[in-house]
Amino acid sequence: MTTISKTEIRITEEILARTGEMLARLNPEQAKDQVLGIVCQNEEWRGRQCINLLAPEALMSPTARRLLSSELSQRAGEGEIGNRWFAGTRYIDELEALCVELAKRLFRCHFADHRMVSGMVSNTVVYFALTQPGDAVMSLPKPAGGHSSNRLDGPAGLRGCRIVDIPFDPYEMTVDVEAFRREAERVRPRLIALGSTLTLFPYPLREMKEIAVELGAHLYLDGAHQLGLIAGGQFQDALGEGADVLTGSTGKTLSGPQGGLILWNDPALTGRLRWAIFPGMAATHQINRVAALAVSLAEMLAFGQAYMAQIVANSQRLAAALHTRGFNVLCAHKGYTQTHQVAVHVAEHGGGYAVAERLAQANIVVNKNLMPDDTPENWDQPSGIRLGTTEVTRLGMKEAEMEQIADFIHRVLVAGVPPQQVAIDVAAFREGFQTVGYCFDA
Ligand SMILES: *Cc1c(COP(=O)(O)O)cnc(C)c1O
Repeated sequence: MTTISKTEIRITEEILARTGEMLARLNPEQAKDQVLGIVCQNEEWRGRQCINLLAPEALMSPTARRLLSSELSQRAGEGEIGNRWFAGTRYIDELEALCVELAKRLFRCHFADHRMVSGMVSNTVVYFALTQPGDAVMSLPKPAGGHSSNRLDGPAGLRGCRIVDIPFDPYEMTVDVEAFRREAERVRPRLIALGSTLTLFPYPLREMKEIAVELGAHLYLDGAHQLGLIAGGQFQDALGEGADVLTGSTGKTLSGPQGGLILWNDPALTGRLRWAIFPGMAATHQINRVAALAVSLAEMLAFGQAYMAQIVANSQRLAAALHTRGFNVLCAHKGYTQTHQVAVHVAEHGGGYAVAERLAQANIVVNKNLMPDDTPENWDQPSGIRLGTTEVTRLGMKEAEMEQIADFIHRVLVAGVPPQQVAIDVAAFREGFQTVGYCFDA
């Protein structure tokens, strides 16, 4: 199980102590300037100079970003569309109805809820709606990309569920369906949770759904990462293939504001899900975010197919380009990836943590990541990194630029060029990609 280590707590305390000392010398207005300075520096660095390859991140369109600071950001709309605690919500009702209907159209489903402020909260709703304390839940283990949402240290554990691993084939990076059938028949889970933070290929969802039906279990896809890919027709249509519920983060491949969506088709689930959503988990659910989400959904309807297809083409090219340059990229035998993600084993380059730190010094941002052959015990010493192509694709980069990115990474990690030197070239390269595409602003 993941816990916070003593080292992490010590580092946090040290940073807070240093900041507290600095603050003691500032008046409130200087403190305000300090905040603005930090935000500007981050915008200049991460927003203009870096190649951001963090798989969970995406850029919003200028219109969606503007909506986050609209007048709506100060309004409250607790309750259901058309049935609120507060008066004065006429336009908020119209806006939220638009958001829900756009989500239903984009995901071709009967029900959608937009009120969850994150993917994690959406998953919490599923656990409260579809399980009871003590129920068995089957989910993917962490080295296979399993997210804390569906494990003992997240919502599933907080609900009091027992967690059993879905058998996973680390070489093929997919579920071992026969082993799953045997284990599921033994465990008799109430809920089967598919989905992971490291997803390279679609799941054998139809086969698993058949087994779920035989055992009377619900099956849901935590599609946090894949929501945009599903919308753009680049990942399996989870609800169409039988998932009872699809949840996801709206700020990952969907490229909207950070938040959550819950999607389903079966009216029999509506009462339970709605109860867990409101009043269970939502109160002031950030209507400015809902406005930005509605616009992002419209963008996906118009541009999603082309945008998501380019994301997958880019990740496949980035993976191949790294492999050609000698990197140990996962799943070379099956085309590396069919999503926005690429997984690279970097034990020989110093491990995931050191590699991610070194690349960040070169203005290339990735995350350390457990690899499927890591053990849960070495969760804080992961031997890989995970790359995602969502952001660079929305900035207009294509296959040729993926070759250049692989070159930059090779120079830092293999050729031994000082990262500070590569950083200058990365910033110059990034200079040519400053405009967000696949949106009505473009
Ligand atoms: C990112 C992620 C989440 C959490 O989503 P947030 O929107 O960050 O709360 C849940 N499940 C999986 C599989 C994820 O990758």
